[in-house]
Amino acid sequence: MKIVNCIMKNLFLFVLSLLFILFFGCSSSQKSIKGLSYDPPGSVITTDKEIEQQHKRTISFSLTKVFVSNEFDGGKLNDFYKINDTLYAAEMYAENAPINNSAWFSFKLWSPIKQNIHLVLKYKDGSHRYIPKLSYDGTAWQIIDSSNYFVDTTNNTATVKLHVGLDTIWFSAQELFTSNMYYKWIDELSKKQFVKKEKIGNSALGKPLVKIEISETENPKGLVYIIGRQHPPEVTGAFALKHFVEAIAGDSKLAEEFRKKFKTIVIPLVNPDGVDMGHWRHNSNGVDLNRDWVNFNQRETKIVKESLLKIKEEDNVPVLFCIDFHSTQKDVFYVTSKDLTKEDDEIYNQTMIWFEKIREKNPDYFVNIDTSLNNPNSSTSDSWMYNTFNCPALTYELGDETERESIKQTSSSAAEALMELLLEKVKR
Ligand SMILES: [Zn+2]
Repeated sequence: MKIVNCIMKNLFLFVLSLLFILFFGCSSSQKSIKGLSYDPPGSVITTDKEIEQQHKRTISFSLTKVFVSNEFDGGKLNDFYKINDTLYAAEMYAENAPINNSAWFSFKLWSPIKQNIHLVLKYKDGSHRYIPKLSYDGTAWQIIDSSNYFVDTTNNTATVKLHVGLDTIWFSAQELFTSNMYYKWIDELSKKQFVKKEKIGNSALGKPLVKIEISETENPKGLVYIIGRQHPPEVTGAFALKHFVEAIAGDSKLAEEFRKKFKTIVIPLVNPDGVDMGHWRHNSNGVDLNRDWVNFNQRETKIVKESLLKIKEEDNVPVLFCIDFHSTQKDVFYVTSKDLTKEDDEIYNQTMIWFEKIREKNPDYFVNIDTSLNNPNSSTSDSWMYNTFNCPALTYELGDETERESIKQTSSSAAEALMELLLEKVKR
């Protein structure tokens, strides 16, 4: 019996060590972390689809004197009702389904009577994703205190405790960054004499699609293309784009030298309708714009494509780098795959040099690179740019909850790294 026990014990230890090796033995210390890039079946069709219209309104409860409203750009609240005197439910519906789960919510609350309320956040065609952000003016935001926030992963809901009073609370999945805020930012930026703005067309609902051009030369040696906000809730990607562009338009010697050699084109807001409608993913026609870069069924993608092609044709210089800003659960760079038919893939090598430079500037930051998803035949913007301009083209994703200061630091230094890389390239 003792021998049998001993054999069993050794066998158990052997299996345990085998499992340990399998799990940890082959992984490097810097594993790739995959983002939330799953497309539910049917969500990639880009012809117009029905959407569920959101009713804009203010709801009041006469007994408890609680008021709630979604009547502002970016607002999202489909239903709101009382469960008991201190517990309410807020329901958010996706604009249509199937849809990638980016369950956006955004509404305002107030009450003439100071009181604590509990709120259950419920979703149709999605589950709770974003840690709530609070603001008293719609501009300065703070993340909800973790002691007032509980996620129920079984029911895909979350419950929050809020102190409401006369001062209106803005309660939102992420900070609000609506079309008007973009237009103001663009106006401010274009006060610089080397920044020009131009309307390149209108969205399906008539909102301006604006292009920014940053350059201090009539004869650029090459072009850099930057686009963003195809997906409405991806606010952290929008922040990164803003810091990135501000570094290129900044006062540093490097930026000045860069602008005297190159032209940067930025289309920061590709989906203004979706952003202002509080959509989870799609434009006003219910379509994921970043799956429309083969068929170009949507007005917004068509206008952006034509604008980028026209600039290339008029300037008649190479496009050197393309970046599309997004957000997912973690910071990650989706890279256009290496062309395995080539021995020395210049496009891939350039991208890797850029990452190396970002690493050097941010020694404590993990540059998370994922080459597995980028299929050059896919219907995303980076694939179209890669195939059309034959240059590095990638998707730069920021984590939903990445520290805002860290976004500023890494995206500004990523812009510096790119400027250095391209200046070195023309000097060679
Ligand atoms: Zn996205």
